[in-house]
Amino acid sequence: MTQSMVAITQADCTGCDLCISHCPFEALLPLSFTPQNLRKRPVVVVESRCVGCLSCIGSCPTDALFEISLPPSANESPLRESTLVLEVLEIPRWSKGGVGVA
Ligand code: SF4
Ligand code: SF4
Repeated sequence: MTQSMVAITQADCTGCDLCISHCPFEALLPLSFTPQNLRKRPVVVVESRCVGCLSCIGSCPTDALFEISLPPSANESPLRESTLVLEVLEIPRWSKGGVGVA
């Protein structure tokens, strides 16, 4: 049995942000900057927060979100030794002006 996770086809991500509020674990967040080759900063998966619940999959109007399977052994998981640190914007949920959803 493998563990699921979500990934984003960046070429299909318009940066609309619709998926952000569909993740209960705040694992979908926008980059804090716009890469030079893009017109809008994309949303990325913060891998260390994604539990593979797949709640977000149907929220993307361009079908940019898709399921991936992690290796069955934690010893082989890319997350185990991950040193990837993404510069992302935290989205306020319940504070004044927040999106108001978990
Ligand atoms: S809903 Fe889809 S297109 Fe919009 S930000 Fe999320 S992944 Fe990108
Ligand atoms: S699979 Fe679940 S935890 Fe992972 S990004 Fe989607 S909603 Fe968030």
